[in-house]
Amino acid sequence: MMSSVLPAVTEELLREIKRVYEETSQVSDELLLGLKFIFGPTALYALDLVDQHAVTHLTSPSGRTTFQVTGSSGKLYTCYSSCHYCSCPAFSFSVLRKNDNMLCKHILAVYLSQALGSCQELTVSDKQMCDILLANEDLQIP
Ligand SMILES: [Zn+2]
Repeated sequence: MMSSVLPAVTEELLREIKRVYEETSQVSDELLLGLKFIFGPTALYALDLVDQHAVTHLTSPSGRTTFQVTGSSGKLYTCYSSCHYCSCPAFSFSVLRKNDNMLCKHILAVYLSQALGSCQELTVSDKQMCDILLANEDLQIP
């Protein structure tokens, strides 16, 4: 899933975090430094979101899945990890346009919450899923 969009080193780091966390129930300082080194301040914001259990994995009966992340302002953002997209303004601005960030804190929080197993699971109807996916009127694909 991540292999097409993230550099191998990042993917490797996330895998290592998952492995260490499963064994020790914590993330070592070394791995945290690695995250900070690759993602800068985004890593800290993303870890905050994970701590706050802000990530929800939505599944519908037809098999569609998506993630919703409650941002620090309380606004809900929809993240599509399969196509590496987030509906937040930072993603449009600094990832797509300026290309100076690999991802925004919400998508990183999605990856981290999966690695740490702290993602909340929620089943929604196909109608609800459709509404969620279409609700992003400010979704701009360049
Ligand atoms: Zn975002």
